[in-house]
Amino acid sequence: MEEKKRILIVEDERAIVEILKFNLMREGYDTLEALDGELGLELARTKDPDLILLDVMLPKMNGFEICQNLRDAGSTVPIIMLTAREEETDKVFGLEAGADDYMTKPFNILEVKARIKTILRRAGAGKEAPKMEITAGDITININTRSVISHGEPVNLTVKEFDLLNLFMSNIGKIYSRDELLETIWGFDYIGDFRTVDVHIRRLREKIEKDPANPKHIMTKWGVGYYFAE
Ligand code: CA
Repeated sequence: MEEKKRILIVEDERAIVEILKFNLMREGYDTLEALDGELGLELARTKDPDLILLDVMLPKMNGFEICQNLRDAGSTVPIIMLTAREEETDKVFGLEAGADDYMTKPFNILEVKARIKTILRRAGAGKEAPKMEITAGDITININTRSVISHGEPVNLTVKEFDLLNLFMSNIGKIYSRDELLETIWGFDYIGDFRTVDVHIRRLREKIEKDPANPKHIMTKWGVGYYFAE
């Protein structure tokens, strides 16, 4: 039997915590809850959750700090930020801090469940796959272990960063529009919201390119999209 996936909910509004907890448990997940940022970070570090739902405005430590803190420590745990609708800039900050995805409140619980499923499926997909490596130029990815070596050094990528790189390296030279990338990697439409793609592309460049300002692999085709060059 497959082990239950564990989801950490970091949110200070108890009513939202209860809704999430109820629905996720019914879906077969284990949940952990933290009502403030410090406890959230501690549980994220010590309880090894499979995914984190992370509110932005929290007592003691905000969601951006928690996210940044985990990423700085090399954690690649999938993180979905929960932001308030009026806080547009939060989306970008969250992605910059290393979140894989974000949802605005009030959210639709069906959509929350769908996004969690998409991310967890991706995160777990490599484990059953046969060992498989792709090398292009000075970058090697292993689809089985979801590990990446760039210029001889191991690189920690988040779920979405890895999925992007994998897609690009599996289709060298193919140009993907942002729409196609959103649909393929995130699995749903953010109509017109391309910042998610752009921020992830920038982060990916910062991690795998020797000179991120002059990328040699993750290339921009102006007005069209992105592609991978060997
Ligand atoms: Ca809050």
